[in-house]
Amino acid sequence: METYATALLYAIPFFVVLLTIEIGYGYFVKNQMHKVMDTVSSISSGLTNIIKDTLGLALIVVSYPFLLEHLAITEIKTSWLVWLIAFVVIDFAGYWNHRLSHKVNIFWNQHVIHHSSEEFNLACALRQPISNLIGYFSLLLIPAAVLGVPHVVIAVLAPIHLFAQFWYHTRHINKMGWLEYVLVTPSQHRVHHAINPEYIDKNLGQVLCIWDRMFGTFQEELEEVPPQYGVLKPAATWNPILINFQHLLRIMKDAWYTRSYWDKIRIWFMPTGWRPKDVKEAYPIEIITDVYHFKRYAPQATLGIKLYSIFQMAFSLFLMMFMFYNYVEIGFDGLLWFSGFIFVGIYGYTTLMDRKEYAVWIEVGRGLAGILWVWYSGDFFGLNNYLPHASIWISAYFLLTIIGGVYFTYLEQGRKGRMEQLADKELSKDGRVEIG
Ligand SMILES: [Zn+2]
Ligand SMILES: [Zn+2]
Repeated sequence: METYATALLYAIPFFVVLLTIEIGYGYFVKNQMHKVMDTVSSISSGLTNIIKDTLGLALIVVSYPFLLEHLAITEIKTSWLVWLIAFVVIDFAGYWNHRLSHKVNIFWNQHVIHHSSEEFNLACALRQPISNLIGYFSLLLIPAAVLGVPHVVIAVLAPIHLFAQFWYHTRHINKMGWLEYVLVTPSQHRVHHAINPEYIDKNLGQVLCIWDRMFGTFQEELEEVPPQYGVLKPAATWNPILINFQHLLRIMKDAWYTRSYWDKIRIWFMPTGWRPKDVKEAYPIEIITDVYHFKRYAPQATLGIKLYSIFQMAFSLFLMMFMFYNYVEIGFDGLLWFSGFIFVGIYGYTTLMDRKEYAVWIEVGRGLAGILWVWYSGDFFGLNNYLPHASIWISAYFLLTIIGGVYFTYLEQGRKGRMEQLADKELSKDGRVEIG
């Protein structure tokens, strides 16, 4: 997957620039569409997805070259026509894959992360899965294989097609005239991310909107129905790794607890959200019914933890970029360890953002592991070759992680907790509030 890593090296700065422009613009026009914790969570999700995909950690059911070899009835020479055909086939396949992800219980698990943000902005586009562990997409490219579209064309177009879905995740661009009839636009994709009954599961196209118009899933954004973003069963965490498996866990629990053997099997392939009757009654799950009045996820977030989360995210991004630049030198085993560090890091600081007390164990644990790693190997995956005194800097980072973990778990919250207690006492003295 080195080619994908290279493509990302070019794409990531592009994403960063566009994101900065969106945040800056929102600030400038006093209509900020970003919330710090949500955006940090979204970008962190992007990091997990990129790392997982570049490592190629998926079971490929069937590869495109294999299909090409066995199914091609003709061979079109590489010309502008072949690129056009390939793009249309990829987009068509993308539409059906997306539709499958929305409509079938088990497939929804790998897509729910993309919809889990209760905001809608460019960062939300980066919420991409790590739970897509079975690679079946090539099966949807059979039309391209039959037409003999060369593998290199698919390999080049696939990431471009993916990155072309970034720009329309914004609330700053209104309807776009005649383009609304050809392309998926911000307005159409706002509808797609909305949980309003009028909008849910609509506009499944990826680059072209013609498929939605052809197959009856198109819905225009209506002025009287402002889109409300999120998922009907809220994720209620900033931890992108957890969000990737929440739905799977719910299906597994239902399959385990239901008494019907038929339901144990069919639950996986039923429409998204379907549950066996007995477990539905025994273990009800709350879903959002009033989309205009639900409480969005927002655990206590001080300026301190906001800045700290941004720092941790930025450092993870830096580590990832370093990893891509040294993809070959680090070697596969090294890459696994390196990504392990980044993953545990993301798990740790997002759990800290969730204000979960066990975050401190993860943060202290990974801090110590990092320091020990540098201590024993005298380096951190070759970082010393790039940065003078890198060992010291990276050890300082891991030390800071330990301190941050302890501070934001016990001290900051403890201080705030004490202040709240004091305030409560003051109020009760005044007789305004009774403490029961
Ligand atoms: Zn979707
Ligand atoms: Zn989207």
